[in-house]
Amino acid sequence: MLGGMQDFKLRVMHMLDHAANEHGDREIVTYWADGSETRTNWAGISRDARRLAKALTDMGLKKGDRVATLGMNHSRHLVSWYGAIGMGGVIHTINPRLFEDQLVYIANHAEDQVLLYDAAFQPIIDKLKDQWTSIKHYICYDPPEGSDAQGFEDLLDRYDDDFAWVDGDEREPCMLCYTSGTTGNPKGVLYEHRSTTIHAMAEIQPAIFDLSTTSVALPVVPMFHAAAWGLPFAGALAGLKFVYAAVNDPAVLTMLMNREKVTHSAGVPTVWLAMFQHMDASGEAPEYLKVVTIGGSAAPRAMIERIMKMGARVNHAWGMTETSPIGTMGSPSPDWGDLSFDEQVDVVVKQGRVPFGVELRVVDDEGVLQPRDGESSGRLQIRGPWVIKRYFKAEEDALTKDGWFDTGDVAVIHPDGVMQITDRAKDVIKSGGEWISSVDLENAAVGMEGVAEAAAIGMPHPKWDERPLLLIVKNEGAEVSKGDVITHLTDHVAKWWLPDEVLFVDDLPHTATGKLLKTELRERYKDFSFSGG
Ligand code: ADP
Repeated sequence: MLGGMQDFKLRVMHMLDHAANEHGDREIVTYWADGSETRTNWAGISRDARRLAKALTDMGLKKGDRVATLGMNHSRHLVSWYGAIGMGGVIHTINPRLFEDQLVYIANHAEDQVLLYDAAFQPIIDKLKDQWTSIKHYICYDPPEGSDAQGFEDLLDRYDDDFAWVDGDEREPCMLCYTSGTTGNPKGVLYEHRSTTIHAMAEIQPAIFDLSTTSVALPVVPMFHAAAWGLPFAGALAGLKFVYAAVNDPAVLTMLMNREKVTHSAGVPTVWLAMFQHMDASGEAPEYLKVVTIGGSAAPRAMIERIMKMGARVNHAWGMTETSPIGTMGSPSPDWGDLSFDEQVDVVVKQGRVPFGVELRVVDDEGVLQPRDGESSGRLQIRGPWVIKRYFKAEEDALTKDGWFDTGDVAVIHPDGVMQITDRAKDVIKSGGEWISSVDLENAAVGMEGVAEAAAIGMPHPKWDERPLLLIVKNEGAEVSKGDVITHLTDHVAKWWLPDEVLFVDDLPHTATGKLLKTELRERYKDFSFSGG
């Protein structure tokens, strides 16, 4: 027997329809690369998305075809997501910071038909055009005066908005995102209308992003990083106001945050480091922030403390491209009001709980389920309606025999369900059969006055197999010695975790999504030996 309710498909375009119909005049503000600004609203985004959908259809694009973007955060990029999906296509956001061979690989693997791009990335287009085998149409969001590129606005001007969203099954694809691929070729994750809708519904909850129509959100996380953490969809569902900056300048971000009274922001830790530097230098600070989400890498304690002292709640997000990307959120616990400031920070330093929809477990290397005791660490596995089953064009599912996705992260789960990442499986430092968490070492080091960034890697050791080498970038003008670092760490980690060597470096390599690039560090220091220094 079936129930008696309606067949209302969980299709992405319902989210935009909701925003346009119920919150149509809620604004979308963009600060462009050239310093100009524009304002539209959800009704305008919906109209432009229909015009773009019409244009794409006219170009001969069919259901399921991939439409790629190389763009920063702005309203035209948002229109592109909904326009491409609305015409039945799949939006494919490409990260312009990837290496050239990855950019070539990804667009060809995705068989992108159209590429929409920022003029700032024209050099990439000019260089790679001949190697991209499937792209037939190039459309520039902001062509400079006199350029012969097809302009986005000129294209839309040729179409009216008389277009009905293409319908279909809710399990059809709507978006393709590639992992940043720290090893080997990037892998594509093909999100569905259904998975995207459920993920967005989960995201707006108070315990997750805490979004509603009263929110004013400035997502610093780029639209090309893991679907901008789902915010373009969740924002429509919530009917919130978006403030986009097409440049990543902390001075611009602070100005926008204060002028537009931004309540919600989200970005990787390096974004907040840059904001802090600006705040220190200028004396300015964002004044209206209520919820700041940090994710993509572990949020260091000192960062959480500073933002909480600014009066905002910190959300500590863990997830990955394969999980749409939200997996867990470190956010206030039931006893929050009774906790001291330090105890509250203890809560947020952990990666937190899952929203309803996804489930977590920790297993050892043999696949044996580990207890939720906050101590038994092992491989973190996840399942749920917005978690990957199979990579794009792969021959086999990416799951364990019993249907879980292995994240490659090492974690513990506490008795209250709070998950805590201890490391990535490939970054754990294996010393004398025991594991040292590189993340914990790095976080402890970054908590020290004068330390801007730190990376811990395991280096071969004749007796212990591996021992930690700690690389530190100092704040400008700071005086920090190896002895100071060791003294500081002694208060924060077990004695046998202390690094055998501390080196001061000018900078550390990062992936295209701002994470420490440990593979490159290991390569850089491959000839390092502890005895020789
Ligand atoms: P990639 O997998 O290519 O690095 P993702 O952006 O999907 O690209 O990264 C997902 C990974 O980032 C996670 O598996 C985890 O190792 C790390 N990560 C994300 N958020 C956090 C966090 N809050 N704390 C610790 N690690 C995190």
